[in-house]
Amino acid sequence: MEKNMLDTAHAIIREAATASGLSAEELDSLLELEAAHEFDIVLSSGKKFKAFRMQHNSKRGPYKGGVRFHPEVDFDEVRALATLMSLKTAAVNLPLGGAKGGVVVNPKDLSHDELEEIARKYVQGLQEFIGPEKDVPAPDVNTNAEIIDWMVDEYGKLTGDNTKASFTGKSLENGGSLGRTAATGRGGYLVLNEVLEDTGKADDEVTIAVQGIGNVGEYFMTTVKKERPNWKVVAISDSTGTLYDMNGLDAELVVAHKKSAGKLATFIQEGVQVLDSDAILSIECDVLAPAALGDVITEENVATVRADYILELANGPVNAKAGEALESREVTVIPDIIANAGGVIVSYLEWQQNMAHESWTEEEVKTKLADYIVPATKDMLQKATSEHISLKQAAFTIAIRRLMEAR
Ligand code: NAD
Repeated sequence: MEKNMLDTAHAIIREAATASGLSAEELDSLLELEAAHEFDIVLSSGKKFKAFRMQHNSKRGPYKGGVRFHPEVDFDEVRALATLMSLKTAAVNLPLGGAKGGVVVNPKDLSHDELEEIARKYVQGLQEFIGPEKDVPAPDVNTNAEIIDWMVDEYGKLTGDNTKASFTGKSLENGGSLGRTAATGRGGYLVLNEVLEDTGKADDEVTIAVQGIGNVGEYFMTTVKKERPNWKVVAISDSTGTLYDMNGLDAELVVAHKKSAGKLATFIQEGVQVLDSDAILSIECDVLAPAALGDVITEENVATVRADYILELANGPVNAKAGEALESREVTVIPDIIANAGGVIVSYLEWQQNMAHESWTEEEVKTKLADYIVPATKDMLQKATSEHISLKQAAFTIAIRRLMEAR
């Protein structure tokens, strides 16, 4: 799972580290984990599952990163994702480090009770290594607010902690933050807006194609509609098909259809064409925003991309070879560690609210999200311009410098 995406991440880290003048030893220390926890979760039924928590770097603050439940999770993947979390938190200047966790399990094979037992035993296995000031996990692939609520409850029972700041991504009733669900999509909009402002295109009629209509794709699409009437989402896809209308799709109608029918392929509206799922990647538009999976734009299909900007809302959607090809064609790739950082920023805001026993309004959360992600985007743009490097190199170089300075 996502193996090439991880090679891509390592390639860009090496490139940015070398350009920043890091020695081979410094690069090795940058990639090294501070701690690796690997243990078995044994259910009362006797079923056994391997579990991980990789803690990469805590020099800037407590470790932060999701926990995924997936049958193909492995040590190397979790390790590399933990490294990327340290770079992401540094790139947007959060006082946090990076970690990632996983359990090798297919949640579809579990009963609801077994899922709860796994969540609680995951916390029991890690109790002494996590906590509000040490490591604050969050949901990721196949984990959600319900699972996180069980984990917080278990952590509270084991330690007496009543802040609920031990995990983020909780349900609203249990200390979650307003604005968290929309955060990554909204952050992606704010980043794109800064980039297009910088190139003088933000007030034009910008056309956008979005791959994936899950949490990130949905809120990106609806935020664009609300904030920028002059921009048009002309195409959106899921694994069943691509909807295309050169005059712009109606975000609310498309989202409502996806929620009721479960798939886009059955959407019917005059003027809207239903194409293959992969057609999204070759739609002619200003901005292509992959918001579904890693490693979707590769050397095999990069020639068919007809966008001027790629907004990496998913983690690692453009592989290293495709990235080079796009750069030589002067297509701007807006890197994931900035483009999708809205989620971790609002996770940090949730943690701050819990630590202070406060609850902020959605407007406050939106303002604070912008206060982190907009300056981070401006820093990236400025560095790329002044040093004639790509946005990706600029973002990684800034993050690496911050991590090295935090020693
Ligand atoms: P999600 O599971 O809610 O949605 C994923 C969407 O992708 C679904 O609509 C699914 O139908 C669609 N999809 C699956 N295969 C597809 C295909 N072949 N073509 C087109 N669409 C396809 O996930 P999400 O939370 O929206 O996350 C999307 C991406 O963003 C992931 O790469 C994730 O790691 C990354 N990300 C998410 C967050 C967050 O806060 N949710 C934060 C940072 C990064």
